[in-house]
Amino acid sequence: MSEKTLNPFKIAQQQLKEACDALGEEDAVYELLSEPEKVLEVTIPVKMDNGTTKLFTGYRVQHNDASGPTKGGIRFHPKVTKDEVKALATWMTFKCGVVGLPYGGAKGGVIVDPTKLSKNELERLSRGYVRAIAPIIGERRDIPAPDVNTNGQTMAWMVDEYSSLRGVGQTLPASFTGKPVEFGGCLARKEATGYGVMLMMREAAKYTGIDMKNMKIAVQGFGNVGSFAAIYAQSFGAKVVAVSDVSCCLYNDNGLDVNDILNYTKENKLLTGYTGECIELEREEIFALQCDGFAPCALENAITSKNAKDIKAKIISEGANGPTTPEAENYLLDKGVLIVPDILANAGGVIVSYFEWVQNLHNYYWRFDEVQEKQEVKMKDAFDKVTNAMEERKVDMRKAAYLVAIKSLAMPMRLRGWF
Ligand code: NAD
Repeated sequence: MSEKTLNPFKIAQQQLKEACDALGEEDAVYELLSEPEKVLEVTIPVKMDNGTTKLFTGYRVQHNDASGPTKGGIRFHPKVTKDEVKALATWMTFKCGVVGLPYGGAKGGVIVDPTKLSKNELERLSRGYVRAIAPIIGERRDIPAPDVNTNGQTMAWMVDEYSSLRGVGQTLPASFTGKPVEFGGCLARKEATGYGVMLMMREAAKYTGIDMKNMKIAVQGFGNVGSFAAIYAQSFGAKVVAVSDVSCCLYNDNGLDVNDILNYTKENKLLTGYTGECIELEREEIFALQCDGFAPCALENAITSKNAKDIKAKIISEGANGPTTPEAENYLLDKGVLIVPDILANAGGVIVSYFEWVQNLHNYYWRFDEVQEKQEVKMKDAFDKVTNAMEERKVDMRKAAYLVAIKSLAMPMRLRGWF
């Protein structure tokens, strides 16, 4: 597949096909998983602050509900496309499958540049999107969560809107996850994805005989996932030598002060202009820096055949969804790089979203350390299953993760009589 026409949905289908072939599954398994069950496209009219009305396009895709209700984030981004949302929903199914959650995959997206909207306009867009997709979501049906450019506040507006549509005086907190802790959210949820990315980096290091304490790590993207990945890399004893965002890359071979950088971005949003002990480079320079572990935590198709040859890391733990193109992956695998695939490495978010949903349904809430302990158990179990499959089948880690996921998805589909 040429990298000029990279279509994330075609990549997801290709990964699925290769795994089904390797597993020798019946054709029906590939057929059932290769297309989403439902793709809803909506038009959302929003009254702007200046009195005009603007139309926005949104999507909600439900990929496969054989294992339970579907689950997946909502992205606000100008480059959202239907195929991107379909790919992200597909990856969610495999992510839930590989870590053994009783969910299928879904994803939502709205084509919008949220930086161009006021807070009130964003609230009206969030509520409008919920009104449009309300007929197909719900706490036993499809449970959205935040993704790029949406957050706890967005989820709180969405729960409020959905509850007023459906609730008749009820509040339905289990209908969305990733909510603020003060409004039905789960402790350790906002840390969960980045924490998981580094748990998987640590397990991968152990697996290859490297002590995380001797590792230098670079993190691309300094949003929710990247910032916590960097914080936990440091707390596991590694040196974070580089972090980047859309504005630049900060580098110090002796290690950055991640907490100080995080405080800086809380005030200034972007990394550029930070004056602590480091040098500021172009954001693309992060790929060529000397490091042992690399965590791409920005957007898809970040590691391509153009920059893969510059990468020095021995381990890559994928925080973003689909950050490595198949061409780049083949090159890196040939070089002996261990790539912990997105569906495993960034599953911490959906695992703790699942914990949040369970707590909401029971109206009983757990402590921060309880949540992180439970997350660690789930992710380490999944890591062991995937590395066992990798050794048994002599395949790379992504394929092994798909094999584990597909096995766990095929059984409920078979039991339901879908094939
Ligand atoms: P976010 O919007 O909080 O952060 C994205 C970061 O990437 C920002 O710092 C942005 O400046 C940076 N970025 C964008 N383009 C870049 C570029 N070209 N080079 C360097 N940095 C760049 O988003 P997030 O929630 O952290 O999500 C990041 C990725 O992780 C996405 O692929 C998302 O789908 C995935 N993910 C997120 C979660 C979650 O819980 N938030 C869970 C699983 C997967």
